[in-house]
Amino acid sequence: MESTVASKLESLLKLQSIDSQLDEIKRVRGDLPEEVRDLEDEIAGYEVRVQKFDEEIQNLNDQIGARKQGIKDSESLIRKYEEQQQNVRNNREFDAISKEIELQKLEIQINEKKIREALYQIDQKGQEIAGTKQRLEERRKDLTNKNQELQVIVAESEEDERSLMNDRTEAEKHIEERLLMAYTRIRGNVRNGLAVVTVKRDACGGCFNTVPPQRQADIASQKKIIVCEHCGRILADVEHRAV
Ligand SMILES: [Zn+2]
Repeated sequence: MESTVASKLESLLKLQSIDSQLDEIKRVRGDLPEEVRDLEDEIAGYEVRVQKFDEEIQNLNDQIGARKQGIKDSESLIRKYEEQQQNVRNNREFDAISKEIELQKLEIQINEKKIREALYQIDQKGQEIAGTKQRLEERRKDLTNKNQELQVIVAESEEDERSLMNDRTEAEKHIEERLLMAYTRIRGNVRNGLAVVTVKRDACGGCFNTVPPQRQADIASQKKIIVCEHCGRILADVEHRAV
């Protein structure tokens, strides 16, 4: 079944009207959906950061544990060496053991220094975690507020949107693929989302440039699809001023 140009134009106008209503719903929601997504991303980032700090602190604590064990080992070695020193047979043996003791004391000092450094790092990371957690808390509050705001706005238009989407699916079925693609393309190119307009007060309803009388007559006859020579929008009909 071949549809006439007039019925094609009618279908396009209908689709345009549906899309304009959907655009308006989106306009009312504004930037909120995007703001909510941005906040969710930011929060996820903070959570990862806190987790990373926690792991680093755990790692540092493990290192401290190992260093403390190292100190204990050195201390028991020193005790052992000191006992051995009681039973040396000559000065050479005594000096050799003294050297071992010195080495272990040095080892203890190194471990103590490393422990102090690790404790300092833990303290620093603890402060960073506290700061991050505070920001995280603030952002979570922001998100809750924005989500509530968005839910209220969405709730107001949810049903309309759903029914418009159904209408849209139905309207699309009546428009041939090629025309639908042109419509989508034009809509993407224009600021106000209007791809199909009518001539009003002798002017294109999209760009408001004057449409000459002969062209208006062609448009009104609906024998073929005519686009505005200035903006490329489809001119579906001519609206006559109410007399
Ligand atoms: Zn135009």
